[in-house]
Amino acid sequence: MKLGVINLGCPKNTVDTEVMMSYLRDFTLTQNPSEADYILINTCGFLRASRLESSKAISDMLKNKKCKVIVAGCFVTKELKKLKKQFKAVYAWVGVNDISNIRKAVEHGGVYVNSAPCVYKSTEHVTLLNSYSAYVKISDGCNHRCSFCVIPSIKGKYRSRKTEDIAGEVSALVDSGVSEINLISQDLTYYGRDNYGRSSIARLMKAILKKTKKFFWLRLLYLYPDFAAIKGIVSVMASDKRVCRYLDIPFQHISNGILKSMKRGYLRHDVEGIIHHIKSAIPGVHLRTSFITGYPGETQADFEELKQFIGCGYVEKSGIFGYSDEPGTHAYTLKNKPGQAIIKKRQKSLAAVAAKVCYTINAGETGKTKKVLVIGERAKGIYMGRTGENAPDIDNYILFNSGKSHKPGDFVTVKVTGYEKFDLLGAAI
Ligand code: SF4
Repeated sequence: MKLGVINLGCPKNTVDTEVMMSYLRDFTLTQNPSEADYILINTCGFLRASRLESSKAISDMLKNKKCKVIVAGCFVTKELKKLKKQFKAVYAWVGVNDISNIRKAVEHGGVYVNSAPCVYKSTEHVTLLNSYSAYVKISDGCNHRCSFCVIPSIKGKYRSRKTEDIAGEVSALVDSGVSEINLISQDLTYYGRDNYGRSSIARLMKAILKKTKKFFWLRLLYLYPDFAAIKGIVSVMASDKRVCRYLDIPFQHISNGILKSMKRGYLRHDVEGIIHHIKSAIPGVHLRTSFITGYPGETQADFEELKQFIGCGYVEKSGIFGYSDEPGTHAYTLKNKPGQAIIKKRQKSLAAVAAKVCYTINAGETGKTKKVLVIGERAKGIYMGRTGENAPDIDNYILFNSGKSHKPGDFVTVKVTGYEKFDLLGAAI
């Protein structure tokens, strides 16, 4: 039997797709939908734009009458009733918390939504979409209640995996040839509060580093700005070169009025304190964050404050999102919403400032020597890679010349010779 897979959404979805593929590993994978017996679409229902993309994928795949289409993921959990009405020919529906039912869904069709929320075990994650860089999900769900976010209502409460299970998974992946492990979750800093009674992310990092003997990169993505937990992370990072000098901490805004309305539980001075602590402890660290502009009640002054903050370059990489008004959230009920034209204008303006920060940082990298993870060969002797300060699927690359032969997953020492907009240029030494 041949299986086609379409994976949409964030890296958390990537892991769910890989877990479902692991359950179906006796199937032959095909990139060509017209020869597939089954097509699995793992959807995203987080924002309107992602729902549109998911709907288009379902509608496109249903045009192929010969194969059975299985739709899984957040969008299914969020809007099953509507989707079933819209896409009657779908063979099976699998909710985001029900991926362990994928085998039954393939064999019998039907609906698998809202079984007891769980999180996968290491034995269920053996097939990877990428052989040298893997995402490892350490928990699922979220206990925060940010005013603009639908995720807790889709994914349920925070559920941490067991430390030993995660450490075992990382060690097995690295032994099998994976060079980079990216820990992901809705919020890494919350890890362990449910099953160990306190934030245990630093303890988890130590357990992983102790168990894994081979050299690899350990990267942490998506940290809530929780100062105490971040201090623990930073202290482990400072003591072990295998932890990438990189943290992704979504701050969402910098104006106190907006942060309060977003119910984020911190203010501007907390953000500044966190940044100051990380930068003092880890010279050369790169921070990534995301900001939402056009949130209800965002005044011109709030926007200017955010713009000025991004322009200071305290944070090396900023992802700028226009506010998406999501039914079911607290923010949806608020007044004074800037219109789409203002949201787009502000988003464009902030993105331009963030790009300038990136160019300035790239200019400062020239002449430095970096360890680089090889991703592939662009042309004869020209390789593409990533430095430790750049995460997969979101950040920038380095293009470098080398007289030697390298394969994806190799680590190479490269001297930075210049940059081209977002990407660095270099030569292997
Ligand atoms: S931390 Fe906030 S934004 Fe992130 S998933 Fe949880 S509720 Fe949503």
